[in-house]
Parts: sequence; structure tokens; C-alpha cells
Amino acid sequence: MRALAKLQAAPGLTLTQLARPEVGHNDVLIRITKTAICGTDLHIWNWDEWAQKTIPVPMQVGHEYVGVIEAMGSEVEGFKVGDRVSGEGHITCGYCRNCRAGRRHLCRNTVGVGVNRPGAFADYLVIPAFNAFHIPDDISDDLAAIFDPFGNAVHTALAYNLVGEDVLITGAGPIGIMAAAVARFVGARHVVITDVNDFRLDLARQMGASRTVNVAREDLKAVMAELDMHEGFDVGLEMSGHPVAFRQMLDVMNHGGKVALLGIPPSETAIDWNQVIFKGLEIRGIYGREMFETWYKMVALLQSGLDLSAMVTHHFPVERYKEGFDAMLSGRSGKVVLDWRV
Ligand code: NAD
Ligand code: ZN
Repeated sequence: MRALAKLQAAPGLTLTQLARPEVGHNDVLIRITKTAICGTDLHIWNWDEWAQKTIPVPMQVGHEYVGVIEAMGSEVEGFKVGDRVSGEGHITCGYCRNCRAGRRHLCRNTVGVGVNRPGAFADYLVIPAFNAFHIPDDISDDLAAIFDPFGNAVHTALAYNLVGEDVLITGAGPIGIMAAAVARFVGARHVVITDVNDFRLDLARQMGASRTVNVAREDLKAVMAELDMHEGFDVGLEMSGHPVAFRQMLDVMNHGGKVALLGIPPSETAIDWNQVIFKGLEIRGIYGREMFETWYKMVALLQSGLDLSAMVTHHFPVERYKEGFDAMLSGRSGKVVLDWRV
């Protein structure tokens, strides 16, 4: 089968031929239809410090996908051959305290599809059936292929009640943009999103942000005054991973504000702790998606009219994967989808 893999400890990926994976008793074999490129895949492509210390070589990468079940292990229940599925990319242990309590997203032994074990950028993927998620017929392959990052956005955006709240999102990457769409959809008042990239801010506005702010040239506090927001934001969703953005967020939160952190800053990032303590802020780290509450919410949001159709800006057949990575790396894209069936 074809697979996009890291074959050398160097930048780039290679479209190569690998053996089709074996299906264990509890596994499903998924024939991949479409995949999407994640920021993580860009780190792997660039072969940065994180990738060098995390990704074994050779490694078949990718974890955003939709496909069709082609075979199943003897113990699998609840699925059948022909089911259209995506899947949770965090394979959890099942035996730690959190797993046993049903808090799988807090498993301490998580293994990542396309990071620590073979990924979805291939004609076939094997995952435990537990991780597969059935996609209803009324959800397109394009959207199903981005359920993983959409799930990050939904998990973060629904961490706190947003109804009638003023929400600040720092970072208009694909996840920040989708979080803006969700915040708007569930009834936030102002959904202000910041970035330094106008292309992405334009997409965020199209997707539901009520005000976009290019912090390279606009003053966030002046924007707040213009919006008649004199006290500060009620909820902050940090989705850039940039220390400057996180500090700016802390500075403009109202007292008692709530902050959800999805973006991954450098580990020793310094902040003004007085902002946290004297404002009584609540700060929560967000990892992955809730298994599987977030997945059900994603389906429900789309079925009740959340429109993410503008999110996928580029399509390429997998043979043209280099153009797909170039589009992502350019910063002038939403999600980029690679098609394995053309
Ligand atoms: P991305 O890199 O595409 O988006 C980050 C955005 O932040 C970019 O558009 C960038 O221009 C913008 N930015 C840079 N400086 C800024 C500033 N000073 N103020 C505001 N914005 C600024 O990333 P993504 O794929 O959308 O993911 C968002 C973040 O979430 C990343 O840090 C990623 O590593 C992290 N992430 C975390 C999890 C998790 O489970 N916690 C999962 C996926 C991604
Ligand atoms: Zn566990």
C-alpha cells in the first residue's frame, strides 16, 4: 500500500510502499478516503527539535482522516464492514485510574497515531475498534477528515459556559478559527480573535468571529473600548502557543475570568502571576478530545447547523502532497485535505 512516511531523519516526507498492517482481534482495518494535514505534521515535516526527539524513523505519519471499514478483528462489536469512520488518535491504555473511570482523555499512557505508532497517511490504517467513530451520512468526508482538530476546538470551547459571555481567542490557526465558529454558534456575545496573519483572520471572520484583531498593528485594548467592553473578557481560549499572546490574554481578562489553554507554549514561558492571583483567574489545560463526549458534540453541532464548510481551503490528490504541505506552510490556508481515492 501507499504511505507517506518519514524515511530519513531529515526534513520532508516520502510517498512510499509499505506492507498493509495486520488486524488484531480488537482492531478495525480502515481504507483511508481522505486525510488532512495537522500542525503536528508540519513539525514532523520540518524535522524540528520536538519531532527529532519524538518521532522514531521510519514512521508512517498522519492522524486526521476519514475512511471505510474494510475488515475487523473477531472480537469487534458495534461496527460492520462498510461503515464510514474517523477515529480518536489517542490510543489509551484502558487500565490506569482515569481510563477505568471513563476519563480516557486523561490517560497517562496515551500513544499517538502517526506520532508513536503508524499513522493515517496511507491506503490502510489499523486502530483499536474502541477508537473508531461512526460518521453519520449527512456529514461530508471533508469535515469528517478534520474531526481531530475540530475536536480540539470543541473540547476547548466547551470547557466553560460561553452563553452571553465575551470570549477572547488568541491564535487564528485552524483550531482557533473553528473555536470561534463554535463560540459564536453556542451563544457567546463578542468573539474576538487575535493573530498576526490577515489571511487567517479573514477566514475567522467568515467563520463567525465577531471582531478580528491583527495584534501586529492593532491595539486590543482600543478594540475592547470600541466594543464597549470596559471590564475585560469573561472567557479566554489560548490557541496560539505563543507566550506574547498568553500574556496579552491574562492582561485583558476580567476578574474571575476563565482561561482554557490548548496552545503549547515553550515549557519555561514566564507570565505575570499577579494577573492570575489578584484577578482570581481559573486556568485549565486542555489535551486532545474527550473520549467520546467531544465526538458526539461535534456531530450534534454540525447536525444543528454549525457551518464549517469554509474551513477546508485546499484539496490535492495524495501524489501532490508536497503542494499540500507547501500550502499549509505558507500560512495562507485553512485545512488542507489530501485525497487517497482519486
Ligand atoms: P497554528 O500554528 O496553525 O496556529 C497558531 C496561530 O497563532 C498562527 O496562525 C499564528 O500566526 C498565531 N500567532 C502567532 N503569534 C501570535 C500572537 N502574538 N497573538 C495571536 N496569535 C499569534 O496551530 P493550530 O494547529 O491551530 O493549533 C493551535 C495550537 O494548539 C498550537 O500551539 C498547537 O501546538 C496546539 N495544539 C494543542 C493540542 C492539545 O491537545 N493541547 C492539540 C492540537 C494542537
Ligand atoms: Zn490509561
